[in-house]
Amino acid sequence: MTAASDHVNSYYAASAHQAPARPPLAGDIEAEICVIGGGFTGVATALTLAERGRDVVLLEANRIGWGASGRNGGQVLPGWSGEGEMVKQLGERARDFLRRTRYRGNEIVEERIKRYSIDCDYVRGAATVALNARQMAALEEEFVSETAAGAGADLLLADAAAVKTHIVSDMYLGGLIDRRAAHCHPLNLCLGEARAAESLGVKIFEGSAVLSITHGERPIVATASGKVTAGTVILAGNAYHQLEQKDLGGYMLPAQTFTIVTEVIGAARAASALPGNLAVCDANWALDYFRRTADHRMLFGGLCTYNNRVIADIEGALLPRLRQIFPQLGEVRSQFAWGGAIAIPLNRAPLIGRTSDNVYYAQGYSGHGVNCSHIAGEMLADAVDAKAEGVELFEAIRHFKIPAADLIGNPMLALGMTWFRMRDALGV
Ligand SMILES: Cc1cc2nc3c(=O)[nH]c(=O)nc-3n(C[C@H](O)[C@H](O)[C@H](O)COP(=O)(O)OP(=O)(O)OC[C@H]3O[C@@H](n4cnc5c(N)ncnc54)[C@H](O)[C@@H]3O)c2cc1C
Repeated sequence: MTAASDHVNSYYAASAHQAPARPPLAGDIEAEICVIGGGFTGVATALTLAERGRDVVLLEANRIGWGASGRNGGQVLPGWSGEGEMVKQLGERARDFLRRTRYRGNEIVEERIKRYSIDCDYVRGAATVALNARQMAALEEEFVSETAAGAGADLLLADAAAVKTHIVSDMYLGGLIDRRAAHCHPLNLCLGEARAAESLGVKIFEGSAVLSITHGERPIVATASGKVTAGTVILAGNAYHQLEQKDLGGYMLPAQTFTIVTEVIGAARAASALPGNLAVCDANWALDYFRRTADHRMLFGGLCTYNNRVIADIEGALLPRLRQIFPQLGEVRSQFAWGGAIAIPLNRAPLIGRTSDNVYYAQGYSGHGVNCSHIAGEMLADAVDAKAEGVELFEAIRHFKIPAADLIGNPMLALGMTWFRMRDALGV
């Protein structure tokens, strides 16, 4: 990791609540638990531990919310990525876990917003929409199984006409509307949770990239200017860290994904596209997602590169797609464009586990990280409390190393991704 940097130039950074700049770690200190990384995983874990009376130090290489947590689409979606793989490998054990945790992250977020008065534009309601018959059939199947599992009136299967009352576009054959899912300003959520953690005694150091973890009865976590000796270490650097590579290297696609936010277009114009103020994503493998912001702009995300490169013209790639979906917006202009590393394991199931008895990690939630990072935070805190069932379930999942995953321009990856994009285009 190079020198510490400020938040990427994004809509979120431009509209973030003021947060104190925390000093880098200086000197050697002790803690019960040392958390590495100040995104949702690190902050949520630190906050859960602090709520349970633990003594926690958090080291962030850059600023709180600098990574994916401060750059994402803000969609707080239920469930996990890689659910099919988890069930395939672990059967009923995974099915039971997935049922119990489906909305757990949403619940934690909502509880915290209330308890700590976090102002982050949180609005309930999201939809997954179908672009072809195969996707519609899959959404129908999901609706049937979730209804059987007790989803109730919060989940609604909508045909093309019903979807159009919420998403005024001719693109979609129908969709699944989920009133318990939500959207928010993720950077303000992360900053608010960090503030709450500090109010409970968590010590946060920014500009403190961890360079090494020395394992032992009390592991030592070293930065350029200090050390933390702790009973337990939680590694929450997601796509942005290079630590513990012997155990963790090569499992995640080197993927970047991109977002634009338009100029302010006003409430009426925003409502001409999304009158129901839902967060929306389509059901493609390489999906588009969009929503309104609280100050009446459109946020639109999509595209993935699989060589860790940020594309040169993000606006040029995304704005035409937004205009194609909502021609009624006219010549809407984009004001912000940015990218971020999204950690996608090859089989899509998150990587959660231990590299030794007292060094834990959680990463790789693909596009479900707002919800799942909060569940992971609770599971990691449980593991510190010697209740490791959640972590053990993830440790039982087999993952696959990507040959030469870090090789820029890996031809195998490019081929694989072209195949998935072709499937989207052909609707198969
Ligand atoms: C553009 C984009 C859109 C997305 N949209 C959505 C969405 O709408 N909904 C959803 O649920 N998910 C979405 N995701 C995924 C979601 O944002 C992530 O899964 C989630 O934020 C991961 O949180 P995290 O804390 O694990 O990682 P991050 O937020 O990436 O945080 C990791 C932190 O660790 C720090 N770090 C790294 N190495 C070190 C080190 N050596 N020492 C100290 N600190 C270190 C980094 O600086 C960083 O701040 C999106 C992701 C991207 C990139």
